[in-house]
Amino acid sequence: MTRRLVLATRNEHKVHELRQILAGLVDELDLEIVSAAEVDGPDVPETEVTFAGNARLKAVALAEATGLPSVADDSGLAVEVLGGSPGVFSARWSGSHAGEGATRAETDRANLSLLLEQVADVPDEHRAAAFVCAAVVAMPDGRVDGVEGRVEGTVVRAPRGTNGFGYDPVFVPTGDTRTLAEHSDAEKNSISHRGNAFRALEPVLRRLLTENAPG
Ligand code: IMP
Repeated sequence: MTRRLVLATRNEHKVHELRQILAGLVDELDLEIVSAAEVDGPDVPETEVTFAGNARLKAVALAEATGLPSVADDSGLAVEVLGGSPGVFSARWSGSHAGEGATRAETDRANLSLLLEQVADVPDEHRAAAFVCAAVVAMPDGRVDGVEGRVEGTVVRAPRGTNGFGYDPVFVPTGDTRTLAEHSDAEKNSISHRGNAFRALEPVLRRLLTENAPG
């Protein structure tokens, strides 16, 4: 029997990437992936200050609201010279600068411009950064587990490429010359923080979805 798994995010880019990353497990366990928007799930405020904390909040809220197993991604860019910022504030780094009612693409552009301004004087050798992703699964019976994934790289001086979203156009993974926005979806997923996190979450998901709750 097909089981539903809810993705606790309204970010269509994340949903798109996660559907590809989890495709093997979806086939193996006969799952149907549905997004928070599709089940009219609650929009959960991110009030924690760690990726893991926020991912847990989102996954648990969705599992409680829908009665379905739920997975959440909380992610962002940690720039070394900025002490790990924007970090958990990556999605709202430019505050309201993109304006009331701005689209996600407009907000992404405003965030990226502000970040580039902030590191404009930083020399190339000090522009290290990492994308970080916390992936958490929450079951309706209260079981919760999670992992973290990363990809290391540097922040370049001007955006390049049109794929992906967010800070992809200014992030070059270590050992590469192209930004993530110059990678295909499959290439990005094979090395990204999200790909690494959700590949590590797979055995956890397999266990939680196939074994009975204790007691
Ligand atoms: P969240 O929805 O609170 O997890 O915020 C995630 C934010 O981090 C996004 O809005 C982007 O600004 C940034 N981010 C996370 N993952 C990626 C990625 O794969 N590429 C580019 N930016 C990302």
